[in-house]
Amino acid sequence: MKSLQVVVWGENVHERKSEVVRSVYPDGMHAAIADGLRENGLEDVTTATLDESEHGLPEERLESTDVLFWWGHCAHGEVADAVVDRVQKRVLEGMGLIVLHSGHYSKIFKRLMGTTCSLTWREAGEKERVWVCNPGHPIAAGIDRYFELEQSEMYGEPFAIPAPEEQVFVSWYQGGEVFRGGCCWHRGNGKIFYFSPGHETYPIYFDKTVRRVLANAARWAAPRGRWVDSCPNVPADQAAEPIINRGPRLHQDGDEGYR
Ligand code: ZN
Repeated sequence: MKSLQVVVWGENVHERKSEVVRSVYPDGMHAAIADGLRENGLEDVTTATLDESEHGLPEERLESTDVLFWWGHCAHGEVADAVVDRVQKRVLEGMGLIVLHSGHYSKIFKRLMGTTCSLTWREAGEKERVWVCNPGHPIAAGIDRYFELEQSEMYGEPFAIPAPEEQVFVSWYQGGEVFRGGCCWHRGNGKIFYFSPGHETYPIYFDKTVRRVLANAARWAAPRGRWVDSCPNVPADQAAEPIINRGPRLHQDGDEGYR
């Protein structure tokens, strides 16, 4: 069986500008995320960053990508709309998308959700307890009732997302807030998972359980078939039960779709 082709996209800005972030992720967050996926048995994992031509996501590369991870924070606005358009198109066709942490405010996530995706937050290095809501879900496979991150950024409700189709995790923070931190949706033929842990000043992507969750998510989001949405016209004489055209018409047989 062909191995899953995974691309980890990282903004890679804070890692270069901030001494604090560089000390936690000397090779970049995208590299740590990719290492965690390989550690969990995914063989074909590569990375892409904002600075690369077309942000490392040219059309041919996305064509062969099964699952795309997305971590961004301070440079969401610098992501070209043409790249957002093509990622959206691939998700609708069936590519999986895993959106991490501050990626909740990325152009691609907001577009796919259709809402503002705003939340409340606090950077106080507090403990986070991630509870498994659905132990039978493939993304929670191998995870106990909960796991803890000693230092995390608080992300709290209200989280302005459409109601998740599946709630895999919910987080509790030392300061008392709770957050829907592990949510699934489908858009077109593609699967989307949002996972909230991942603030850049803490070594969260080195955590064994977080790495397991991300690998589980990649496998869950693997494409099933491909749906190219081309909106074709089906003339009356080619219907499953051929019929005769009647009444006034605006379009000719074989028109390029009703738009
Ligand atoms: Zn953060």
